[in-house]
Amino acid sequence: MAAEASQLHVFFFPLMAHGRIIPCIDIARQFAARGTKSTIITTPLNALRFADSIDGDKQAGLDIEFQMIPFPAVEAGLPEGCESTSSLTSPAMLMNFFKALGTLQQPFEQLLQEHRPDCIVSDAFFPWTTNVAEKYGIQRLCLHGASYLTLCLIENIERYAPHKKVTSSSEVFVVPGLPDQIELTKSQMFNGGVSDNISPSTDDKLEEVDGKSFGVLMNSFQELEPDYAEYYQKEMGRRSWHIGPVSLYGRNNIYKAERGNKSSVDDHHCLSWLDSKEPNSVLYVSFGSVCRFGTSQLLEIAMGLEASHVPFIWVVKMDKNKANEQFLPEGFEKRMEGKGLIIRDWAPQVLILDHVAVGGFMTHCGWNSILEGITSGVPLITWPVFAEQFYNEKLVTQVLKTGISAGNKVWSPWVQVEYVSVTKDRIEAIVTQLMGNGEAAEGMRRRATALGEKAKKSVENGGSSYNQLTALIEELKVHSHQTNIDKPTQ
Ligand code: UDP
Repeated sequence: MAAEASQLHVFFFPLMAHGRIIPCIDIARQFAARGTKSTIITTPLNALRFADSIDGDKQAGLDIEFQMIPFPAVEAGLPEGCESTSSLTSPAMLMNFFKALGTLQQPFEQLLQEHRPDCIVSDAFFPWTTNVAEKYGIQRLCLHGASYLTLCLIENIERYAPHKKVTSSSEVFVVPGLPDQIELTKSQMFNGGVSDNISPSTDDKLEEVDGKSFGVLMNSFQELEPDYAEYYQKEMGRRSWHIGPVSLYGRNNIYKAERGNKSSVDDHHCLSWLDSKEPNSVLYVSFGSVCRFGTSQLLEIAMGLEASHVPFIWVVKMDKNKANEQFLPEGFEKRMEGKGLIIRDWAPQVLILDHVAVGGFMTHCGWNSILEGITSGVPLITWPVFAEQFYNEKLVTQVLKTGISAGNKVWSPWVQVEYVSVTKDRIEAIVTQLMGNGEAAEGMRRRATALGEKAKKSVENGGSSYNQLTALIEELKVHSHQTNIDKPTQ
């Protein structure tokens, strides 16, 4: 598609983490599919992971491209080639990584000057892009990686400090002012409730910076959390557009299989394994792109899954230094032949979740994973670990009631968890319950199926997310037209 004078040009600038870059690229592709010129700003190694799908889009006539900025890994005290949060192996490295993000401002500004886009969609973890956008007279949309409910929880915890009134970290309290009675404990909060700033390096409160942006882009949909979307917009006074689930955009099996990384399993093998199973019989177990358990917890998961007699696909990520450690019980793989499939490292998640044989998802409650599970219409076992995952869990277990908690109650400051937080007995019990025919499980399944259908409808022509994206693009066009008229002639 040739660039026209009136064509809207949007810069997309995601944080270099799988959970942030994957949805941002989904959105950039969708903008391009609607006739916008989409430029994705990222570092060379991150661009490489998506090069094939973006090339495919270009061949199909979409106006989409990467613009590269270097990542100063070595200067920041990180190993060469460390350009993504998934390469970080210690909290100290995370701090260095976040410090390095600030140095991206100069190359980012240079690209802005060269290309003069009409709008920037940048990650919430780049708060400085708000001021940069203002400097160049460009709109900035802040891209969040969580639910509306999570943003409302963060805000109301800040406003009312309910956690300061409890006497222990395990005492349950209700977060005031919200549409539902959301229960939380201090042990589930960031840093056990000591600080509520989710960014490890910046003192800018992310939500305050949101307030100064043109608006907020949410990977959510109207039918999922209408009360919280309204609360966020009316009570918190933010402009926002919910245009998800973005994993539904531009789907085909090749893109689904390679979304974000090269899969560690042959997709055809994976699909034919699933083809051999009954509908809704398989549990998919995955803890996202960065969370890693120690061998003792992995052993408990293996034993719990085996004891449940439920067929499973289990994605195992291990610390690179421990990759050779044995974590499976003696003879496990032989006994599980045909019954369980273990994928080490990276699985084609949406391809698996979309298969009719999958009937449940044990997840760490990363927001993308929750939405992808909801989209495929399956109930969830929620096992939050770090970041805002405990808040995301609340939507599933306390509002939508499409999942049950595995029982982990303690927020982890780091992605590598060495202790056992959920035992094999609990895992067996919860898996048997979710995948069984009890009344509670049937109810969850019914609600999950209905939500999955609504999710799919929302992105179809005329659906709520489809319409929100149309309205946003139209508004951006009007704004850009106005800005061009107001520009002094040179
Ligand atoms: N993902 C995947 N295969 C994996 C692990 C993760 O495709 O083996 C994708 C998953 O579909 C999701 C993203 O990576 O889109 C992870 O984002 P999420 O917010 O769920 O969790 P995070 O990795 O950020 O903790």
